[in-house]
Amino acid sequence: MTELLFRGATVFTPRGPTRADVRVTDGVVAHIGNVDPVKGATVVDVRGTYLLPGAIDVHVHSRDPGFPDKEDFGTLTAAAAAGGVTTVIDMPNTVPAVDSAGVLEAKAALARSRARVDFGLWALVRSSTTPDQLRELAAAGAIGFKAYLGYALSVSRRQVTHSFETEDPDLEAPPDYGTLTRLGPELAEIGLPLVIHAEDAGVLNTFRRPLETYADVLASRPGEAESVAIAAAAAVAREHGFPLHIAHLSSASGLAAAEEAVSAGTKLTVETCPQYLWLSEADFPRISTWMKMNPPVKTLHDQATLRDGLKRGVITIVATDHAPHTDEEKSRDLEHALPGTPGVQTLYLSSLQLAKEMGDISLAPRWVAEAPAELGGLAESKGSIAPGYDADLVVVDPRQSTTFSPRMMRSRQKHGALNGMRVEFAIDSVYLRGMPVVNGGRVTAGAQGRMVRPASVG
Ligand SMILES: [Zn+2]
Repeated sequence: MTELLFRGATVFTPRGPTRADVRVTDGVVAHIGNVDPVKGATVVDVRGTYLLPGAIDVHVHSRDPGFPDKEDFGTLTAAAAAGGVTTVIDMPNTVPAVDSAGVLEAKAALARSRARVDFGLWALVRSSTTPDQLRELAAAGAIGFKAYLGYALSVSRRQVTHSFETEDPDLEAPPDYGTLTRLGPELAEIGLPLVIHAEDAGVLNTFRRPLETYADVLASRPGEAESVAIAAAAAVAREHGFPLHIAHLSSASGLAAAEEAVSAGTKLTVETCPQYLWLSEADFPRISTWMKMNPPVKTLHDQATLRDGLKRGVITIVATDHAPHTDEEKSRDLEHALPGTPGVQTLYLSSLQLAKEMGDISLAPRWVAEAPAELGGLAESKGSIAPGYDADLVVVDPRQSTTFSPRMMRSRQKHGALNGMRVEFAIDSVYLRGMPVVNGGRVTAGAQGRMVRPASVG
């Protein structure tokens, strides 16, 4: 039996912050309160710090297998650990795309050999996916399903690809609202969330144009692309009663559609990302193509509306859409630079900063740990500091500040869109199931990550 005793931190529990000791036995939180050390216990003096639940980033792209030049599970999870993210949920657009139980199991085995933090896997919905495949993916441990509305699949390369090409015989048509309608009964029966990339293909197709300026980017992917996709997918979800999750919400228009869907009774959850909460079109001259992403960062009005949606609890989750590319792929001209930014390492600190500016630091662990655990079906073991929960713990020092810089980044891609931002917190140490994975800001973890799966589904 191993005993660990954290002494004197401000502990962020589901009921709010409290000054307490936390006893951890064999990697599980055993007691919160005044604790006398038992013989042989390791005592960790954390006076003056915040003890927070490890974050669960429900939206990352490990690029593994498929694109080792961009990232792999080892570098992804080193960045995650360094940022206090103790569980990552990886998107299924790795290669081969995670469209069957066999592919999911092979990816899980690969991830286990490299992951420094715990991980879960989303499964892909193709336009050709069958109800049986959904059931097999659920049985294999998928956290839920992801449909990339408007993204085709190269059958020969087994790769999700954004394409407006309709003539290429190698491209399988993107999943659409018809696909969701067809699979609705099984999605409802299985009960796992369906995540959508919510930009309507019809709207995007109408507004396509060469991308010469950032105004072209905004005009080519308007907020209505989000609101149309959300309204349509929500109508299907409501009809069948399956849980729908909106990835990376970026617009005021999309937020309004989500809010309407919720008041109409849709089982709907919404995530946004730090880049949409902190950046706007005004930052493009400074950041250039490093902030090219889909959906694009929009206006200051969108940013303010998203912050308000988060404050009002319409948006409950902050995730990153961590999507690294190589420097060469990001430094091309606006038209050809690949979309996406790394972000997993800056999720917690940027969220703490925003929560502080909103006047309540305890909002941050709700956005990045508690609500994500609920979405992933992990809320019985992760996302909170409470007795019986995994001791995924982050020690944050509020007396130190951090400026995001390429030098500190553990991802293979060093140039995140938030680089240069200063926050009034620093990560001191991180524990995964009671094991130290970051110490004094240094990542010490080996490949000790385990796969997590939703509790309610076998
Ligand atoms: Zn993504």
